[in-house]
Amino acid sequence: MFLAGFFLFVALISGCDSQRATSVLLTGETMGTSYHITIADENSNTSKERLKKEIDSKLIQVNELFSTYIKSSEVSRFNAYHGVEAQKKSAEFIKVLAEAQRISDITQGAYDITVGPLVNLWGFGPSFKEEDIPDLQKIEAALSEVGYKNIVYDKQTNEVRKLKESAYIDFSSIAKGYGVDVLSEFLGSEGYMNYMVEIGGEMRVKGVNSQGIKWRIAVEKPDSMTRSIYRVISVTDVAIATSGDYRNFFEKDGVRFSHTIDPTTGQPVQHDLASVTVLSKSSMTADAWATAFMVLGDKKGYDLAIRNELAVLFLVKKGDEIREVSTPMFHKMTEEHSS
Ligand code: ADP
Ligand code: MG
Repeated sequence: MFLAGFFLFVALISGCDSQRATSVLLTGETMGTSYHITIADENSNTSKERLKKEIDSKLIQVNELFSTYIKSSEVSRFNAYHGVEAQKKSAEFIKVLAEAQRISDITQGAYDITVGPLVNLWGFGPSFKEEDIPDLQKIEAALSEVGYKNIVYDKQTNEVRKLKESAYIDFSSIAKGYGVDVLSEFLGSEGYMNYMVEIGGEMRVKGVNSQGIKWRIAVEKPDSMTRSIYRVISVTDVAIATSGDYRNFFEKDGVRFSHTIDPTTGQPVQHDLASVTVLSKSSMTADAWATAFMVLGDKKGYDLAIRNELAVLFLVKKGDEIREVSTPMFHKMTEEHSS
């Protein structure tokens, strides 16, 4: 369910033989996907085991906040409560909620973490479902539960309130990004200066790679049949997120149903936009924007990206052809390689 529309060729690109002897690689499983961390600091005399242990426990903490797959998580408890009384939440919960709500405001609800009932109805949520098209009545019913304005919070008291009893939050579009931020900040606090953190395709890089140059990241070609590189970008001190309709979807009678839902129609988005890559300071922000742009499409999305000075690469697919639309900020923040 958390399969990302993004693929890493980091090992391939950076070339294993020329890596510094001290470069540390850590991998594991989390959020229904995998994580990869590369530390390229020259003088890291780290205990790999201790680092991995700490990282895994940080990821467990993130899941205990934001996973709808864990019944006792903070978000699941929020969802299970059907009422309008204020609920005290952790500072982390409020932080992620506030960022989601900020992006909902800017996108006028195209991005909306209360789409959960629709996500579940279309079979992309925690409860297993046959791949099928739900009937219109059910879509209408789920739609009536959706609306980010039904959730209000107070940053001073860390209290959250549902204005609608049944409001349900789905943090899937932002939780991996938040997890990447947590791990990046943890590595920073451990004194590292050069590293790359990735969870299910959401990434954040700092400093330089093991060859002492900017991190080279592959943007995947949006194709459900193959895994190949569309372009390699060189970046530093930034987060990179990609959303796409080419990994997590189902097909029925030749029509593709994406896991990105348009909260105005209650339907999976249907357009030629095959993938969106967003660069931003935090991975949480990049992750949420990538999903937001998949809903908006490349035309509305591009205008909004320009107005908000965001670094975005849209890949639009017509048949076998890929057309690229990218913002000046995207060019500014990347050094491109033909690869
Ligand atoms: P991607 O890599 O394609 O962005 P994510 O897992 O980051 O995948 O985000 C997709 C998930 O976001 C969906 O599975 C669903 O849970 C949730 N989602 C779907 N539509 C929306 C929306 N309009 N706003 C916010 N979240 C959404
Ligand atoms: Mg996302």
